[in-house]
Order: sequence, then C-alpha cells, then structure tokens
Amino acid sequence: MHMTPKQLRQNPSDLPWVVQKYGGTSVGKFLENIATDIVPSYLEANRVVIVCSARSGETKEKGTTNQLLHAAEEALTPGSNKHLDIVKELLSDHLEAAKALVKNQIILEQLEAQIQKDCMKLRSFLQAAEIIEEISPRSKDIIAGIGELLSCSIVTAVLQDKGIDSQIVCLNNIIDREFEVLDQEFYDYLSQQLGDIVRQCGDKVPVLTGFFGNVPGSLLTAIGRGYTDLCAALVAVGLGAQELQIWKEVDGVFTADPRKVPDARLLANITPEEAAELTYYGSEVIHPFTMEQVIRAEIPIRIKNVKNPAGSGTIIYPEDQKIIQELNTTNVDLLHTKLPTAVTIKDNICVLNVHSNRKNVSHGFLAKIFATLDEYGVVVDLISTSEVHVSMALGSDMVQANLDKAIANLEMLGSVDVLHDMAILSLVGKHMKNTIGTAGKMFTALASAGVNIEIISQGASEINISCVVDKENALAAMKAIHKGLLSVEALQEIL
Ligand code: ASP
Ligand code: MG
Repeated sequence: MHMTPKQLRQNPSDLPWVVQKYGGTSVGKFLENIATDIVPSYLEANRVVIVCSARSGETKEKGTTNQLLHAAEEALTPGSNKHLDIVKELLSDHLEAAKALVKNQIILEQLEAQIQKDCMKLRSFLQAAEIIEEISPRSKDIIAGIGELLSCSIVTAVLQDKGIDSQIVCLNNIIDREFEVLDQEFYDYLSQQLGDIVRQCGDKVPVLTGFFGNVPGSLLTAIGRGYTDLCAALVAVGLGAQELQIWKEVDGVFTADPRKVPDARLLANITPEEAAELTYYGSEVIHPFTMEQVIRAEIPIRIKNVKNPAGSGTIIYPEDQKIIQELNTTNVDLLHTKLPTAVTIKDNICVLNVHSNRKNVSHGFLAKIFATLDEYGVVVDLISTSEVHVSMALGSDMVQANLDKAIANLEMLGSVDVLHDMAILSLVGKHMKNTIGTAGKMFTALASAGVNIEIISQGASEINISCVVDKENALAAMKAIHKGLLSVEALQEIL
C-alpha cells in the first residue's frame, strides 16, 4: 500500500524503536523530568520502550535493591526483625513517592493498592524464608525483583498521569524454557521473547521491569547487579532498535571522574571494550555483558543525562571512522586518536604478595596458587608474577572468612604479606595498542607526582595499563595521569 509522507508519520508502527533504560537514582529523583520532558520528546519521532531499575535515593548503597538484599539476610538472622522494618520503610518510601508524583486520584489509588500488595507479598515471602531458615539463589532473585516491580508501577502511573498511555510489563515469567547455561542461544531466545512482549503492547509505552525472571544459575549470581542494563540491551536487540539509551545523572563518559578531576573532558564516543574495562576498573559505565549483545546487532548505545537531556551524551560503538563521522563526533574527540581514552580508579583493593618457599618448581607454584583462589572464590583483579613471587590485587567485595582461609592455604606455599587500603589505577584506551610511549608517559607522570607503585600490569588486550598504588595517593596519581596524558594541554602537545 502506498502511503503519503503524512500517513507515514501518523502510522506509529513505522517509527524507529528507541529503548530507554533508567537507573535507580534517575527514577528515584528525576522521574518528573523523565515523564514531562524526556519521554514525550522522544515519542514525537520514535516508539519508546522503557526499562527501569529499582528506585534509589542519594546513593546506591541505600537503594531499594540493597535494602531488599539486606532484608533477605535479616530474615535468616535468628532473633532479628529488621527485615520487617525494611519492608515497612520500603512501603512508606514508595507510597510517599506515589503521592508526590501522581495527581489524578484514580490513578493514585490504584497505584497505592498495587504498592501495598507487592509489599505484602514481600513480607510473606521473607516470613516464609524465616520459617524454613533458607533463601535459595532463586528466592533471593525474587526478592530483588520486587524492587523493579515497585519502581515500574510508579513510573507507569506517573506517565499515565501525564497523559502518556503506558503499560507495566512484568518480566518475572518471560523465560518459559529450560536453559542450562547463559550462552548465545539463551540470549537470542530471550531477546526474541522480549521483542514479542513489547510488540504486544501495541501503541502503549511499555515500562519493563529490568528484572527478568528465572535465569539459569540465578540472575544475581550469573549476571549480577546492574542486570537491568542487560535487560534493556536484549530488548533493543529483540526490536532491532535504532538506539539503546542508558540514562544516568552524568553527561556521559569522561576522561576521568569529573567530580574528582574538574578538567575531565566528556568523550563523544568510546568502544565497547573500553566501556567494559572502565566498568571492571571502577567507573561503573554499563554492565559488561550488555555490550556484546547490542554490538552484535549493530545497535549503538548512548549514555545520556536525565539532568541534561539536550546533551548528546557518549556513544558506545565499535570504532569505525565512517560511523564516527555519521554520529557527528566533535573534533576534539577525533584528536584523541593518538591518546588514551580515560583514567579510572578502583578503591578498596587488597594486595596479596606470595613469595615461594622454593619447594615447588615455578609451574606447580602458580597452579597451586590458582587452585587455592578458585577453591575460595577469590576474584583477582590484577596479577603480576615472576618465577618465585606473585602479587595479586583483589577487590574488597569478598567474604573475609574466605580470604583468611585462602591466605592460610597460600602460606603453605611460601610467605604471604597482605596490604590493605590500596587502589588500582587504570589507563584505558583502544589506541594505546598502536602508540609507543604511553606507558612511559604514564609512569613519568606518576614519578613526578611522587607516587610509589606496588604492582604494574598491562593486559593482553593492550587497551589497559594498570598499576596498584596506595589509596591515599590514588587521587593525586589520577590527576597527574590526566594532566600528562588526557587533558586539553596533553592534546595540544601532540598536535
Ligand atoms: N536494581 C538492580 C541493582 O541495583 C539492577 C540494576 O540496577 O540494574 O543491581
Ligand atoms: Mg546500573
């Protein structure tokens, strides 16, 4: 059927899909902007799908997901009733938000009833766990998922209140087949399911719970925190979306954390590998599993700021000169082709140094170290070895008892010393691979700032040079590296 341009414009099914993921703080603090400005402005020329995380206040630590996981722990703590207090608090926080944001009385009453119902369900679930004294990984998932349910109920109601026809889509039962592992077959299946469920919403704006059900091995274990990014990515793939937008409270990805380094520059684009490295090493950009899926489908990811929707944000896309030009990259970013991309710090690192007692030849020594780490679930962020000496940097999120046991085992191999309060400083950049002298400049900058280095490591990917320094020196170290290698002055120097 031939359609005139006007008819084309009026037929929403011809418009491109845009998937918008909103993080906890965005829905927690900026929902008014989202519902009055951001969503309506995209609806003019797109079909919009929204994916939300659980609400957070000032910090993620106090956010709903953390509270829910805390409640799960308390339910198993003999004599504790804290989990019931947490449920009460979550109930009153969500009711308060509902009241503040929804004007229409009918919509508000329905929303309040829904919030009450979800919190009752949470309470019964926790009480059941208390009685059977057990919370399986699957039950823990279900408890966490209530956060997204509560948040999406509010978002849907607020959109309706502003006259946007929206519909909540709970993804708890989206996985209706058995899978053993999280492989590509699983991701392909899930993206198709997500695409289908969105299309069933017709002209309504779907608001999807970023929590997505019965994942093999459990969502929190197999995918981990930040799972809503992956959910949004799979939705984008399932719809063949034009763009995946990850909305945060910053303008995009910077050459360094702009709160710590005031002259940090906003990057117009970075590659998926760089985004993943920055996330692993302390700058939470986006869940690392997200990239592979969207990039396979050739969908750009754009990081945007709810506080500045007009800003162009940062685009995550594999490097391809043609696409970079199409995406209208600013010239300062084209200049960075000879520079690293960004510097990041990961705090609260502990270093283990193992010095062999030489009763093992080197290969047995390393094998035993790795076997011990594996046995106690110790995740190593960075490692550097010689034949008889191994230095490892570990994140702080591990269970102290496991670390103690691992150390006791390692002591059978040689002497072990443990350094606390360390930080990993990583310089990340795709172009470092082809540029000579970056490491030289990096360590010169550290030396001139008087920073002592504990471990040095350059990964096989060659897009990351990392070192471990004392936590106290980390900020000075980051500033020195930024000034020497990433600042506007550094750019001018290479011109
Ligand atoms: N709300 C969950 C979390 O805090 C999921 C997410 O934010 O993506 O991990
Ligand atoms: Mg997140």
